[in-house]
Amino acid sequence: MKTYFRILSFVKPYKKYIASSIIFSILYAVANGASIYLLIPLLDTLFLGGVSSRTPDTKEAATSSILPNWISDIQKGLGDAFHNFIFTGTKIDALTKIVFLVMLAFFLKNLFGYLQAYFLAYAEQGVVKDIRNQAYKHLHKLPMGYFKNEKTGNLISRIINDVSVVQSSVSTVFLNMVREPITIIVFMGIALSISWQLTLFSFIVLPFSLIFIALLGIKLRKQSAILQQSIADITNLLYETISGVKIVKAFGMESYENKKFFAGTMSYFKKTLSMVRLRNSSSPITEFLSVVVGALIIYYGGRLVIEGSGLKASEFLGFLFAIFQLMTPIKELSGVNNRIQESSAAGERIFEIIDTEPAIKNIENPIVKDSFNTSIKFENVSFHYDDSDELVLQNLNFEVKKGEIIALVGPSGGGKSTLVDLLPRFYDPTKGTIFFDDIDIKKIKIEDLRKLLGIVTQETILFNESIKSNIAYGLGDFSIDKIIEAAKMANAHSFINEMPDGYETVIGERGLKISGGQRQRLSIARALLKNPNIMIFDEATSALDNESEMLVQEAIERLMQNRTTFVIAHRLSTIRNATKILVIEKGKIVQAGTHNELLSNESGVYKKLYEMQFRDV
Ligand code: ADP
Repeated sequence: MKTYFRILSFVKPYKKYIASSIIFSILYAVANGASIYLLIPLLDTLFLGGVSSRTPDTKEAATSSILPNWISDIQKGLGDAFHNFIFTGTKIDALTKIVFLVMLAFFLKNLFGYLQAYFLAYAEQGVVKDIRNQAYKHLHKLPMGYFKNEKTGNLISRIINDVSVVQSSVSTVFLNMVREPITIIVFMGIALSISWQLTLFSFIVLPFSLIFIALLGIKLRKQSAILQQSIADITNLLYETISGVKIVKAFGMESYENKKFFAGTMSYFKKTLSMVRLRNSSSPITEFLSVVVGALIIYYGGRLVIEGSGLKASEFLGFLFAIFQLMTPIKELSGVNNRIQESSAAGERIFEIIDTEPAIKNIENPIVKDSFNTSIKFENVSFHYDDSDELVLQNLNFEVKKGEIIALVGPSGGGKSTLVDLLPRFYDPTKGTIFFDDIDIKKIKIEDLRKLLGIVTQETILFNESIKSNIAYGLGDFSIDKIIEAAKMANAHSFINEMPDGYETVIGERGLKISGGQRQRLSIARALLKNPNIMIFDEATSALDNESEMLVQEAIERLMQNRTTFVIAHRLSTIRNATKILVIEKGKIVQAGTHNELLSNESGVYKKLYEMQFRDV
């Protein structure tokens, strides 16, 4: 229930629309009631003499015992006025008037119904939009670690599928708490005004058909959660395959992936069917029970008519219409629990995202910093990922002065990428402190810290936007001249110019239309445009073709100029240029120094590494 109220709190901005919808649903219920009530004089006109058929005395006797006098008076007054209006003139006149009124009532009913549905949909879709936006916005606040644990597809599924399920809860609460009760009141009023005994009788027998459906509620909730998980699994599979399409093809894993996907859809199929079975099993049973109840009412009412105890046949038919109109809202009300349960389950899955506290966030009053001036220091820094206790970095101590180039080398898996991920606070050290200009980076405003850093990684992510926007990504408005200048420095200008729309060319999904070397140069252009104080660079391990290699290398050198640079180095030229090389193995700095210093240590790791990795690169 708590989750449910939380979902409803999203309705607040749409109060006006809900209010409009309520007003129109009242009007709808009244017009609906009128359209049924008009059937009584219509039947009278057709089958009886019209004017003479009214028997006010017995009618009054039937109602006066349950309703207060003033209500019966108003009712009688209205009834008489209506009666007089219809039945003055010939029978044909009366028929014309009634037919016109029936038409009007139905027209109004549908008009109000339309408006009510429109305003409700507005609020409902607004809530969906807002919940999605909030969840999406929150995703950006969550630390990198979150995205390793929460599978991407699963997250997508929650934001798309679960939010859709939640949508129905807005209409459920509205329809069930507002529209249906109004309809019930209107038709109860009609039923009561026709015969209170018959109404009372109906309400003694009716509830029997309703208890059953209520019992299904708890089961449905569980089923719904299982179903949502299942669609999340499918989304996840889909995401994995699409993003890893190259690997799937390269390894000839199509049929394996097919099998996995088919198993997922089959499981969803089965779970959906069992949900459908559960949901629909309530219908035939309710229908049968309703028929039994209906038969009892007809029997009892029929007797009242036949025995002449004040109920006319036309009124009895009107009563039956009213009672049948009551069935739907009552049935809906009994299903309200089911739907609340379903949307609560989905809501919980969404709020789980929204409620995840960002582990890495600004402290109160963080330090504003717009330049890097002296040094970066690692002091006793150790780190392990959340999912394992094994230290990936162990007690690192080193200092990097402004303007230095620090090359990180070492066997794969040693912790180099992890080390550089600590600088922009993608992760925080488990122990120890990192200082920028002698300030603990945890105290610096994260946005400022990240502005000081430029990052070029091997996996260049390009967005499905124009080349121009990709280069200026996240950097606000830059003139095209500046963008072109950066592209020129990154040796990207000439290949961009050869593209169909030059700088306006939109890059295909995941940048598939451009080569690896070109992507790297685009990402270097991005970094050059950002012009950060500190560069973090993860050199490509895969060999580029000669020309590309040269162009990239040139661009990198320009990028490193006048900056403090951390580079995960794979090229000999880079390590030669480095001010200091840190050899990292199993999370520890095992050697540090310049290329020549390190080489002179015959038994050192660096020498072996150099012979294996760098010699002929
Ligand atoms: P390098 O860059 O030197 O190849 P990494 O920093 O990528 O090394 O990895 C160091 C260790 O941390 C490896 O054992 C790797 O498996 C582990 N690791 C890397 N990223 C994660 C992660 N997101 N979650 C858990 N373990 C990780």
